[in-house]
This record gives sequence, C-alpha cells and structure tokens, in this order.
Amino acid sequence: MVADTMVKTRWVYAFGGGGAEGDASMKNLLGGKGANLAEMSSLGLPVPPGFTITTEVCTYYYAHGQEYPSDLRDQVRDALAKVESQVGKTFGDPANPLLVSVRSGARASMPGMMDTVLNLGLNDATVEGLAKLAGDRRFAFDSYRRFIQMYSNVVLNLDHHMFEEILDEHKERLDVHVDTGLTAEDWEAVVADYKQAVENERGEPFPQDPEAQLWGAISAVFASWMNDRAKFYRRMHDIPESWGTAVNVQSMVFGNMGETSATGVAFTRNPSTGENRLYGEFLINAQGEDVVAGIRTPQALTKAAREEMGEKNPSMEEALPEVFTQFKSVVEKLEKHYRDMQDIEFTVEKGRLYMLQTRNGKRTAKAALKVAVDLASEGLITKEEAVMRVEPASLDQLLHPTIDPASPRDVIANGLPASPGAATGKVVFTAEEAERLGAAGEAVILMREETSPEDIRGMDAARGIVTARGGMTSHAAVVARGMGRPCVSGAGELRIDQKSGEFHVRGRTFKAHDVITIDGSTGEVLTGAVKMIEPELSGDFATLMTWADSVRRLKVRANAETALDARTARQFGAEGIGLCRTEHMFFDPDRIAAVREMILADDEKGRRAALEKILPMQRQDFVELFGIMEGLPVTIRLLDPPLHEFLPHTEEDVASVAAATGLDPAKLLRRAKELHEVNPMLGHRGCRLGVAYPEIYEIQVRAIVEAALDVAASGKPAPIVEIMHPLVAKGEEMKFLRELTDKTVKAVFAERGREIEYKVGAMVELPRAAIRAGDLAEHAEFFSFGTNDLTQTTFGISRDDSGRFLNAYIEKGIFERDPFVSLDQEGVGDLIRIATERGRATRPDVKLGICGEHGGDPASIQFCEAVGLDYVSCSAYRVPIARLAAAQAAIGEREKDR
Ligand code: PEP
Ligand code: MG
Repeated sequence: MVADTMVKTRWVYAFGGGGAEGDASMKNLLGGKGANLAEMSSLGLPVPPGFTITTEVCTYYYAHGQEYPSDLRDQVRDALAKVESQVGKTFGDPANPLLVSVRSGARASMPGMMDTVLNLGLNDATVEGLAKLAGDRRFAFDSYRRFIQMYSNVVLNLDHHMFEEILDEHKERLDVHVDTGLTAEDWEAVVADYKQAVENERGEPFPQDPEAQLWGAISAVFASWMNDRAKFYRRMHDIPESWGTAVNVQSMVFGNMGETSATGVAFTRNPSTGENRLYGEFLINAQGEDVVAGIRTPQALTKAAREEMGEKNPSMEEALPEVFTQFKSVVEKLEKHYRDMQDIEFTVEKGRLYMLQTRNGKRTAKAALKVAVDLASEGLITKEEAVMRVEPASLDQLLHPTIDPASPRDVIANGLPASPGAATGKVVFTAEEAERLGAAGEAVILMREETSPEDIRGMDAARGIVTARGGMTSHAAVVARGMGRPCVSGAGELRIDQKSGEFHVRGRTFKAHDVITIDGSTGEVLTGAVKMIEPELSGDFATLMTWADSVRRLKVRANAETALDARTARQFGAEGIGLCRTEHMFFDPDRIAAVREMILADDEKGRRAALEKILPMQRQDFVELFGIMEGLPVTIRLLDPPLHEFLPHTEEDVASVAAATGLDPAKLLRRAKELHEVNPMLGHRGCRLGVAYPEIYEIQVRAIVEAALDVAASGKPAPIVEIMHPLVAKGEEMKFLRELTDKTVKAVFAERGREIEYKVGAMVELPRAAIRAGDLAEHAEFFSFGTNDLTQTTFGISRDDSGRFLNAYIEKGIFERDPFVSLDQEGVGDLIRIATERGRATRPDVKLGICGEHGGDPASIQFCEAVGLDYVSCSAYRVPIARLAAAQAAIGEREKDR
C-alpha cells in the first residue's frame, strides 16, 4: 500500500529533559537557536523542555499560500504532550497550567529582527492556577498582563502604546512610579482594562483558547520572516530569503518568582576586548525583556566586575552563590564544547538554573583577534582554526587610529569610505595650503572637489582627505589608500566655495580652518575633534600574522612608490613591490618643469635633452626604493597617464606655470590643447606613449637598471627588477616593448660591465590582452592584472565617474558590490582565468600577479588563490589584510580538495 511506503516528513524536533532529537550540526533545519538548545540538552545541561518546528515548515508555508503541511498539527500535539509529561504540567489546565514561549530562530542569527511571545497559555482560568501554583497572585497577573500586551502586539498587530498608556493611567491613579509598586489587585485591574481595550479594537475578546493562542503565535513568527526589518537585515547581511526561520516552542521558566529568581545574559569572554573573564549582567526577580528594556539597571555577574564598576547592588556571585557556581561550570563547559566564545541567556527560577540560549558571540575586531589567539594557546582550537576565526577586513579597525565608539558624533556629511582610519584637522581647500600648514606642524584635512596628481604633496601633508566627487578608485581614493591617509570620497552634499573660504552642507556653513574629523572607514564627515583610539600592531596581531604566513601560498606585495610607502609596506610584511607607478615621481616640483619641457619639445632630440635632466632624479628614487626593499622583487611600471595630465589647463594656470618656469605660455597652451583627448582613459596613454616616444621608456629603463647596479655595487642586496609595460593589448606591441627594454638594459650592462637579474612583463588591463595572453607571453615573462583598468574596460564603465550611478545598481541588486572594490569574478574574473591559462600554455613559468585595488580585497584574494596566481599586490596598509585573506584562501582551497 502506498501510505505504508511513504516516508513521512518530520516537521518537529523535541529537546529537553536530558536529551534531544536534533543537534548543533542541524542549524539549517532547526535554526541556530533550535540546534543549540538541542545540543545543550544532549550535553545534559538544564534546558526547559520544548520543541522546534523546522525551517522547512517556513519554506512550505510560503510556497503553499501560507498553509501548513497537513500532518504538522499532529506532530505539534505529540511534541507538546511530551513536554507536558516532562514538566508535569498540562497546556490549558486551569489547575496546573503549562506555559510556553514561542520564538523565532533562523540559521544565521538576526538579533531582534523577528517576533517572540512569552507566557503563552495564560487565560482567565489558567492565571488562577498559576497564582496558586506559584503561591503568588501578583506574579501571575503580572505575567498575564505581559502576555496580553506581547500577544496583542505581535499576533494581533495592536499598537503597544495603547497598553503603556493604560498602565500609566493606573500608576498615576495609584501614585506609584515603578512597576514593582503595583499589587496583585492592581495588576488584575490592569489586565481587565487591557482585555477591554483589545475587545474594543478588534470587536472580539482576547483569545482564551491556549491552542488558538499557540497557532496564532506560530503563524506570527513565520510571518515575521517577511517583515520589513527582517528583509532589510537579510539584505544587509546577505542572508537568502529561501532559508526561512524555525519556531521554538519551549516551556516557560520564570525569573520573576521572587528574590531567588533572576534572569541574565553572559559572554564567556569580554566581547569588546576579548579578555578571558566572564562578562555580563543579570536582574533579580525579572523576566528576559527587563534586562534589555533598560528600566532597571542590571547587576554584574561577578564580584570582581561589580567592584570594578563601583556598583553597590550585589553581583550574582554574591546574591546567588550556589547557582553562580553551577552557572560558571556550565558556561565553561559550553565554551569548551563549542570551542568558541559563547553568548548565553539564562534564567534562575526559585534557585534553579535554566539555560535558554547559547551561540557564538559577536565581537569587535580586537576581541576576535585576542579570543582566536587565546583559544589556540589554550589548546582549544588549532592555529589554522584561529586564522580562520578573524575577518580579514576587520583588521582595518586595528591598523589605523579609529574613532572611539563611545564618543558622540555630529555627522555633517556622508561620502564613500574610501580609505580607512580617522583623522582630525583644520579644513583647507588647496594642496598648497595643506603643504604649508602641514610643514608648520599643523593637522589639516584637505577638502577638494576632487584631487589630481598635482595635489599629491598636499595630500601627503594632510592628515586626511575629503572630496565632493569621485568613487572608490578615484585619484583621491587610490592615492590616499596608498599613503594610509584616511579619505572620504564622493561626499556629494558638500558645496565647496573656495573663493569665500567656506563650505556649505545640509544648511550649515563652515569656514576654512574650522576643525573637522573624518572617518574613512564609514565615510562620515564630523564636526570638531573626536576622541580616537590608537592602533596596536604587536602582541596578538603579530602572533596571528605569523600563523597566517605559515599557511598561505600567495605572496603579498605592496603598491608603493615613495620611500615612506615602501617602509610602511615592509613594516606590514610586504614581500616586494608589485606596482611602482613611476608617474607619481614626475609630479615632484623639482622635476615637473623638466617633464613639461619634455612634453613641449618639438622633436626626439628636444625630448631626450629634457629626459636627460629627469634621469638622475629617477635613478635616485629607485636607488632609495631598492635600498629599502633589500633584495626583494620590485615591479616598476613605465609611464602610464596621458601627457596632458602634466600640463596646466586654464589660462590662469598656464600663466603661473610659464612665470615660474620660463616656458613659453603660448606654446604651453597650444600643446595642452593639442594633447586634449575626448576619452583620455582610452587614449594616448600606457605603453602607447612608449610606442610613440620610445625615448621616454628608454630613459626610464636606463634609470631603473643604473639604480639597481648602483645598489648592487654598494654591497647591498641587488633587487630583483621587474620592468612592466602598462595597457598592452597585442603581441606585436609587447614584442616591440620587450626589444626596446632588452636593448637598453644590455647597453647599460655593457657600460657598467656588470649585470643583475631582471624581468620584462605586461600589465593585463584590457580584455584583448587577456584573450590574447598567449601572444603576450611570447615576449612577457610576467603578467600583472591591472584590474582597475580591466574592470573599467570590461564593463565600459569609467572608474572616475562610476560613483554617480553605481549605487542605483547596488540598490536594485544588479551589482552585489561595487566591481571596482570587489572583483567581478564572473566577467573580469573569467578574463583573468583565460589569461592565466593561455599565458601558461605559451610560457609555463610566466609569473602572475594582481596589482589593481582588488589585490587588497579578501573576496578577490580568494579568487586569486583559486586561479593560482603567484602574488597579490595592494596598498601598504592593506598588506596585513591580504596576508590573512591569502591564508584563509589557502586553507579554504585545501578543504575543497579533501
Ligand atoms: C590598474 O589599472 O589596475 C592599475 C593598477 O593601474 P592604475 O590604477 O594606475 O591605472
Ligand atoms: Mg591601470
């Protein structure tokens, strides 16, 4: 017969009474709370008996027009009967009533997003039974009024203010100020008014049938999966809607049964510092919601914590010493069992301890680090597990000064969190002023419409940078990240009026030199000086980094061009330079004149004459860089930006440059106009400069090689030099560049009578370069994926202007994340995969790296590990993040293979 062979779906899992039908591994089915309640029961911990209705019921409910599976009611009834027999009470029995709580419990914790009903099962008859059973009429009616309010709000959708007003009227009438001042009779009167109010609102009485109450609450919890709060939270935390929530029905225990009853929350370690000490609070004679509601001040758990806080009210250790001893051993057991810091809810009913919840506790970055290192040192987890326990991106909080979370914030504008950390200073509107005040030792924040390469020294002199325009890979953002300067970009609300020395925002006006603070980790601009917390790079941080380094495969390099960047990079553990953008060296005031002279020259001879002036300066830059890097590889990219970027544009600027340099103003303006391009990003830039004016690249190569030979001759370790050509598209192009490079290098070797190791490679920044990587690899010994340009050219979206419309794409879910921040693995990633395969097919040992901004993004680093790149390169301040992310990616890949 069919019915006999059909496998029945189990919708309900029981727990409590020293055993359980589920366990901690069943989070997908039972939700986090349900799975952990089951696990705690199996461990023999005191968990009030109950049962979990699975997440599959939620899925079924929404797939079937909010109907339940036909056999759910029977399974719930059986489970309830089991609970009744375990606690020796009966649901709805006026003489001996069982009361239950009904709570949500999704797979991922969604604190406070969904609904809960407590004290369910109370009605006009059972409240009398409860009063007798507890020997406390006041308690029974207090519970009943709580239940009516909660149920009416959650299940019947009535506004809770209505109930608060009624209670206030009673308190006024009785002239009492706190709830504890109300007697049993007073609560009875409140209950009567509550019920009347519900009937007035609904046209029918408050439901008295416990079974109807139960199903009302179960449906309300399932419905709350789709409330706006929950939807918003899911979107924020990438929790799929399809997961659904479970419902936990559990026998009530009461923390409000007098002076030997209590309720509280605890962390097994301090969640903000990670310190290994029980942390938390509790309230005597109270129910769970009182602890969070903030009506009464909760008390400390331990005597030591109470003394530290200077509190008078006794701690749990002092007020309930026996229960506390038991509690302490239970939480220790839980932490050992889960091998992680636990976040626990508990209740004490008449001196008996009950555990209501445990889960891995949320924590700050600092605490995550300390807990991971401590747990590994205590032998509870392995070093690899410790490495997996810390979110790489969260290290940002530890590498820069950050705003003290306890200090108040007056936010005047919001922009993009372009470069992390916080800074305070006087507002200035020009790079020159930033430089001048900075040199005088003043802290300044440079505020610009947007920055350009000419602002570089002012940016360096400023403590932080704010721009009104530009996205996450705008000039300001990239340069600030490289320098480790906090930066907020694209704060579009700012109206900067440079002439009058003011800026306006949200109806407020600020003047130059007013003090502001920026938070580059959140994108906020704040008034005044705000209290900061300084970073700490030794101790646990250093320990975890060592563990990460011992498991990672990917090398981590830095994008750096100044001595300061290079030193910072090494201090953070960089294993070389993956991108030195040489043009940044051209903007130095000492050399910009020679650069302009070169651009203005009419022929090769003129250009060479100007370049000869630049050569010794570039050589000196490289000598310094190679010295700092002490024999590590250094990838130097030849000139990349279009030449017009080095020329003044407005007539005013032309006049001042002409006056300062003695160059012909008419010629300057004419050349600037000649070089003007409609789409400079797609124009005469990258190696196209080297093809049109080979002498530029020739002189740069000469400067690099001479510097390397100088360093080697001085007895320092010789650098491994990697000369990189930007924006290459074609094999023939690469062939030309390779020959030009080799010829120059060989000439210098011959002149000096000495050689060093060097490689010539290509930046892969164009889809064609990726697709024809096999051709490039004929001549290129390495590829570095310039994913900023590769993203720009693959999507056809300008990296400088995308900030204006990308938000619309993210809000509509078309893009999950800004593709200039986190690699588009499907599209741009596929090009990288293709280039990797085709490049290796031609040249099996072609060295592969990434140097776009994605090189410091953990998700993108994971992708780089999966496709088997050799290294990632990122701004100096992201190096530790990349080291940790690379270690996690390596462990992840290994697990996949198992
Ligand atoms: C890139 O395009 O990814 C890159 C690293 O070069 P830049 O940002 O200088 O264009
Ligand atoms: Mg580029």
